[in-house]
Amino acid sequence: MRKKKVQNKYKSLLIITNTDKFKLPFGDYLRILAFAPNLKFKKIFFVSGKDLLLLSKEHDFIDSIKITNKKLISSLKKSSFIFDIENDGKNSSKIFYLKTILNPKKNKKQNMTDLIKNIAKYFKIKKYKLYHNKNVDLKTTKDVYFSWQAPNAWKIKEYSSNKLHLLNNKIKYELGLSTKFQKKKEKLSTYIKNIKSSKIVVSIVNLGCHISNLFDKNLIMLSGPNYHEDSSLHKSQITIFPKEFCNYHKKIFKNKKFKNRVGSLSRGTNKCYCMDNIEVNAIYNKIKKIINEKI
Ligand SMILES: [Zn+2]
Repeated sequence: MRKKKVQNKYKSLLIITNTDKFKLPFGDYLRILAFAPNLKFKKIFFVSGKDLLLLSKEHDFIDSIKITNKKLISSLKKSSFIFDIENDGKNSSKIFYLKTILNPKKNKKQNMTDLIKNIAKYFKIKKYKLYHNKNVDLKTTKDVYFSWQAPNAWKIKEYSSNKLHLLNNKIKYELGLSTKFQKKKEKLSTYIKNIKSSKIVVSIVNLGCHISNLFDKNLIMLSGPNYHEDSSLHKSQITIFPKEFCNYHKKIFKNKKFKNRVGSLSRGTNKCYCMDNIEVNAIYNKIKKIINEKI
């Protein structure tokens, strides 16, 4: 009901963000943008600062607006339904505050896994898609790109560099593929370019997955202690899980691989070796399969 009323009244959706005030992990903004067309507005505007605009501008179904463009923003505020990702407030038929669906008892990481599910629930959308660009037939210059980096607080998401190099050698010499690794502190614009120009992306659960999804890339996601269910909505994505979770996460996750989960380590816990339980050959076989299907 709420959904119908809102769309009759407003033709456009205005998503506003200010990362100086409130900041989500970048990948989660991309998840929101991929979800936004489900709300069925004729136009979707996205207001943000420079860094996020680099990402939003890549979307062919989003109109990006600089946060400094105050005049345009204030006129759009009048004519649009507002999706606010920066302030606290009370939801109405004119505005939705993302913060209202975050559970204060959970930390940010835990809140983010259920993000799309909870937005859909608020707007009473039972079945939804995640959208990608229409034109995804981009020129590619390499076969495989490795998106392997996690921020310092999230190192348990990374895959061992030894295994990654083993995999790299195997696909280079046995399958004759050209490969490239994400550089340490790679610039966001370079990172986007690298993903755009690759046939296959092998990525841990990080921003690279969401960028790959936007361009509908063949994505092989390596998922250890964390996973969000909406990633199963991307048809060009394959997810590889550990043969089994580490002892610590085995207890917590009860081996439910496809369930929303976020793994952290409490103090005094031994190292997590979920990611280490992902086999090089499992990834190799998936790459081989994709390459063979394409020929
Ligand atoms: Zn673990």
